[in-house]
Amino acid sequence: RTVYVNGEYLPETEASVSIFDRGFLFADAVYEVTSVLGGKLIDFDGHAVRLERSLNELGIESPISKEDLLEVHRNLVKENGIDEGLVYLQISRGADSDRDFVFPDTDKVKPTVVLFTQNKPGLAETVKPIKVISVEDIRWGRRDIKTVQLLYPSMGKMMAKAAGADDAWLVEDGFVTEGTSNNAYIVKGGKIITRALSNDILHGITRAAVLRFAREAQMEVEERNFTIEEAQEADEAFFTSASAFVMPVVEIDGVQLGDGQPGPVMTRLREIYLEESLKKAE
Ligand code: PMP
Repeated sequence: RTVYVNGEYLPETEASVSIFDRGFLFADAVYEVTSVLGGKLIDFDGHAVRLERSLNELGIESPISKEDLLEVHRNLVKENGIDEGLVYLQISRGADSDRDFVFPDTDKVKPTVVLFTQNKPGLAETVKPIKVISVEDIRWGRRDIKTVQLLYPSMGKMMAKAAGADDAWLVEDGFVTEGTSNNAYIVKGGKIITRALSNDILHGITRAAVLRFAREAQMEVEERNFTIEEAQEADEAFFTSASAFVMPVVEIDGVQLGDGQPGPVMTRLREIYLEESLKKAE
């Protein structure tokens, strides 16, 4: 694979970043994952806008323009022959050999920019009925910033695997926040219910698109908190993310939902999402 590091395209075996990089030492970095279908980027603009916001929230000056970022994404997709897959992007505050908690001066330390691709053939066709367990959400309070502090979500996924499930839904003060790497939804009487945006959850790019398409299709959407108990009694449950699109959740803490099959609302949303997103893919 060819990867991109700070302005250079290199074979992955020759690419490196400093051991003093603050992404490595402090998780002082943000990221984005953009999916590729038919060799084109899905919702690149949404990801670029959120990246800008994340950088801004952390006071990291954007080291690359949106136009240049799009070009790097496209170059890597082409160079690596990605038809279906993902582009991973990470920007850290940079490498500072002082290892000081205080942010280094921006004229001294420049952000580190890394991009690589992942080939995922069959991405658009893969619909896996997901079993989730609930775990306490003990992440920090700024989940709206897409940082690389992914240890707890990673542990949550491991707890799920150990319990014979696929993923975990995180619960805070009795209410579901989101999945370890996705936004969570339930469906009741045709109504799509998902937690409202706040600092408690990541503002999913797929979430924004799916809710917009749902409203355009005259489907009812309610942005509010829900509990695990309410989810277990729902008609359907699902999650959204850039790498899985819309995915059915058929079991929550060992309780099967409905007949345990992907539901009609989720199935329709997935179809609309893929169709509409592909139209404006770049
Ligand atoms: N929540 C969390 C915690 C995530 O990590 C992700 C995916 N990175 C999402 C939600 C979904 O966001 P998106 O649709 O932009 O991929």
